[in-house]
Amino acid sequence: MADWGALQTALNKVQDPETGKGLIDSGKLKGLDVDEAGKASLVIEVSADLAPGFEPVRQDAEAAALKVRGISAAQAILTAETTPVPAQAPPQAPSQAAAQSAAKPASKPQEVADAKPKLPGVKNIIAVASGKGGVGKSTLSINLALLLKEQGLKVGLLDADIYGPSVPRLTGLEGRRPLGNAQNHAIPLDAFGIQVLSIGFMLKDPRTAMIWRGPMVQQALMQLLKQAQWGPSETDPAPLDVLIIDMPPGTGDVQLSLAQQVSVTGAIVVSTPQDLALLDARKGLSLFEKVDVPILGLIENMANFVCPSCGTSHPIFGQGGVEAEAQEQGLPFLGAVPLTMALRTASDAGTPLPISAPDDAALTSLRTIAETLRDKLKI
Ligand code: ADP
Repeated sequence: MADWGALQTALNKVQDPETGKGLIDSGKLKGLDVDEAGKASLVIEVSADLAPGFEPVRQDAEAAALKVRGISAAQAILTAETTPVPAQAPPQAPSQAAAQSAAKPASKPQEVADAKPKLPGVKNIIAVASGKGGVGKSTLSINLALLLKEQGLKVGLLDADIYGPSVPRLTGLEGRRPLGNAQNHAIPLDAFGIQVLSIGFMLKDPRTAMIWRGPMVQQALMQLLKQAQWGPSETDPAPLDVLIIDMPPGTGDVQLSLAQQVSVTGAIVVSTPQDLALLDARKGLSLFEKVDVPILGLIENMANFVCPSCGTSHPIFGQGGVEAEAQEQGLPFLGAVPLTMALRTASDAGTPLPISAPDDAALTSLRTIAETLRDKLKI
C-alpha cells in the first residue's frame, strides 16, 4: 500500500516555478491517483504559455512520487488551462495556398501533411472520426485495426475518445495500466497483436473523463500520442505501418488540435444514414479540410439490419444516404457495414469479431474496407 500522506508531502516539495509554492499548495496538481499495483498517475495543470517550461517540473514530480514507499511507477501528465489551438489552419503564403487549391481542390496535397511533424515509430496515421457519438466509430476502429493486422500490417490503436473511452472494454483490457519505458514513455498494451493505448487506461474510473475540461484532455491525448512507445518494441524493432486514432466524436478544439499536431495520413468519417448523423458528418468533413487532412473516405454504419432468423435485410435507418453524400462531396465511399447482433456482442465480450468469429458475414464489407485502406496507403 502506498503511503498517501507521504506522497502528498513529497509532491508538495516539488516547487511550482510560477508561484514558488509546492505543487499542491499552488493548486497546480489537479489529479492524483494510485492504483492497486502502486502506479501513481498525476495531472499537473498549467497555463498553455507556461507548459513548455514545466517539463522539468513534471519529471521532478514523477521522481518525487517514485521515492515514496509503495509507489512502483509514476506517470505525470502536463495539461494546459487555455487552448493553444488556432481557430483556423496555419497560414500559408498566398501563392502556395493558391497552387494547392488549384492542384487538388477536394483533398489535401501530401506536402502539407508532411510539413507537420511525423510521429516517431509510425508510418501512417488514420483518424477515424464522426460528427456525433454512438454511430459505431470505436467499433469500426477496433475491427479495422484487427483486419489490417490480419493482412500482415503492424498496427496500433489510440483510443482518443475521451467522452467514452471504449477500447479497454472492446479489447478486454479493462483495469490494465500501461507501464513506462526508460524515457518514461507509455508502452502500449498488446491486444490480439495490435498495440493499444487509451485514455481509459489512465483513469481509475473511465467515467471521470467526462468531467475533464477540454484543454486538459487535449494535453493528455498529446502525451498518449507523443510520449508513448509506438512501433518498435523489445521483440520487434519495426515501426507501425498504421496507427488508427479513434477520435473523440464531434468537431471541436480537441479534434482540431489532434489533427494539427502530427502528420495525419488521412481521415475516415463514420456516419449512420440518418439525416442528423449525416449533417454532423458534414461538420467532420469540413473540420479535416480546415486542417488539410485528406479524407480517405466515408463509411456507412448500421444501415441494414440483417435478420438473424430469416436472413432478410431491413434498412432500418434508411440506406445509401452516406454513399450519396460522398458522391455529392466528391469523396470516396469506402463501404457500408450492416447492423448485426454479432458485431455488438463480440464488442461487449471484449473479443472483437475478427478474433472470435473471423468468418462472420458481418466482416465481409469491413474486410474490403481494410483492403481498400491498405491499397490507399500503398503498404
Ligand atoms: P461511437 O464510438 O461512435 O460512440 P460505438 O462504436 O461505441 O460508437 O458503438 C455504439 C454502440 O453501437 C455499441 O454498443 C456498439 O456495439 C454498437 N454498434 C456499433 N456498430 C454496430 C453494428 N454495425 N452492428 C451492431 N452494433 C453496432
